Order: sequence, then C-alpha cells, then structure tokens
Amino acid sequence: MTVAAILKHKGRDVASVRPTATIAEVTRLLSSRRIGGVVVLDAAEQLLGILTERDIVHTLAAHGALALDMTAAQVMTRNITTATPHTTVHQAMSLMTEGRFRHLPVLDKGRLAGIVSIGDIVKARIGQQEAEVDSLKAYVAGAA
Ligand code: AMP
Repeated sequence: MTVAAILKHKGRDVASVRPTATIAEVTRLLSSRRIGGVVVLDAAEQLLGILTERDIVHTLAAHGALALDMTAAQVMTRNITTATPHTTVHQAMSLMTEGRFRHLPVLDKGRLAGIVSIGDIVKARIGQQEAEVDSLKAYVAGAA
C-alpha cells in the first residue's frame, strides 16, 4: 500500500500558514482544526518548513509568553523529510520512526500533494492487517 492510497481516502487538504503568521495564530489554527501540525508555505505555495505542537511547546518553554508573538519562520523546522505518492506505508513508518516525527508532507513532482500523520499510517496498517486476516480466514474456511 502506498501513501497515494491514504491520500485518496483522506484527501489532499493540508493546513498551512505563511512564514509571517504568529505562533498565537498557528495555535488557534491547530486548535480549531484539531490537528498537531501545519506546513509553512511561501506565496508561490512552496514548502518552507513544518511547525508542530512540539515546536510550540519548546518555544514556550524557552521564551514564555513572548513565544506567542514570534513568527512561524522563527520556530519552524526547515530541514523537512517528505514522501511522494509512491512511498509505501512501510517506508513512511520507517521515516517517521527514524526521524522521530509524526507528520510527513507528500510532494508530487515538487508540489505539495497532501500530508500523512502517524495516525493515518497506523490506521492504514491496521486496515491492511485486518484484510489479511479476513482473507486467511476465508481461505481456511474454504479449505475445511
Ligand atoms: P511531530 O512529532 O510531528 O510533532 O514533530 C516533532 C519535531 O519534528 C518538530 O520539531 C517538527 O517540526 C519536526 N518535524 C515534524 N515533521 C517533520 C518532517 N516531516 N520532517 C522534518 N521534521 C519534522
């Protein structure tokens, strides 16, 4: 199973902010959308960085209330690991485990085509395993 199959089901929508957005604004977006991270895009929709709740916690710990007025550009991670639609669910899981992050933006020919989270990956893996168990049960029942 590939990342494309997950995106087909969940859609290609990605919550994003501009680099000038404040952390207060990002926090409100994360809360209203009930998500853990946003991508940071420039005016040409190119991916500049990723900013998750973990970055906000670190920034709050370091700067206190002043963190809320800092910008996405100041807090985001710039060195982003990305997937393509052809990346397998297994590969995506390895990237997240090795990189210790829970979000993986998907680029299709350089353009942002979606994002998968660790939750999407776990859901896909469970679905895959349930399908395998069902087909094995059907095989065993047919052979009996
Ligand atoms: P997360 O577990 O996704 O909340 O992210 C933990 C840390 O990794 C934060 O500093 C994020 O900015 C960063 N991060 C999240 N996703 C990625 C990614 N795909 N590539 C690189 N860094 C990431």
